[in-house]
Amino acid sequence: AAKVKTVSAGKLTMVTNAEFPPYEYHEGNDIKGIDVEICQAVAEKLGLKLEIEDVAFDAIIPEVTSGKADLAAAGMTVTEDRKQNMDFSDTYASAKQLILVKDDSTLAGKDDLKGKKIGVQQGTTSDLMSTEDFGDDAVVRFSKSMEAVQALTQGKIDAVIVDSQTAEQFVKEVPGIKALDASYSDESYAIGVKKGNTELLNAVNGALSELKSEGKLDEIVTQYTKA
Ligand code: GLN
Repeated sequence: AAKVKTVSAGKLTMVTNAEFPPYEYHEGNDIKGIDVEICQAVAEKLGLKLEIEDVAFDAIIPEVTSGKADLAAAGMTVTEDRKQNMDFSDTYASAKQLILVKDDSTLAGKDDLKGKKIGVQQGTTSDLMSTEDFGDDAVVRFSKSMEAVQALTQGKIDAVIVDSQTAEQFVKEVPGIKALDASYSDESYAIGVKKGNTELLNAVNGALSELKSEGKLDEIVTQYTKA
């Protein structure tokens, strides 16, 4: 029997944006990735069936705060702002920001981005940080990071800023682009739950800590990040 109360009885509803490989992405009709496997394992431990809801990145938090989804699992960085709206689990992965440029670009790092057009996925930490550093006019916002990468290869923008593991995935998939270190500080990913839902938060943290000590967490991450 289920160990916690959820928005839909017997189910654990995870909301994500499946445009963030290797954490979540479409493969045929399925949504796969690290977050999916982690939430699947959490659901199993809690006696629940995993359901996945795929929305725009900036619609994820509202789905949780309005009580339509139980968990936000989207390679989501814990930030002070987001903590105003959701409670976060223990962190389960970390990343940094990378700058993607065309292979033949002379841009060598963050300092070279002044006066350039920078593509980001709307509402992400890449959006927030580049807006802060380079100003609103410099930032071109896309609903998917991959659309920003396409604009880059078409020469419509000069650079894309995106989280490291996703950036590395794009470099593998898309010819003609390379990654530079953006030297933004490290970020930690966690699962978000509705503010004040300590029952679910504790259950998620309990499951995560079991998965960690079983070695399952590492196994999942390695499986999706190996070359
Ligand atoms: N980690 C970044 C953020 O939280 C990007 C996440 C994503 O694009 N799914 O904003």
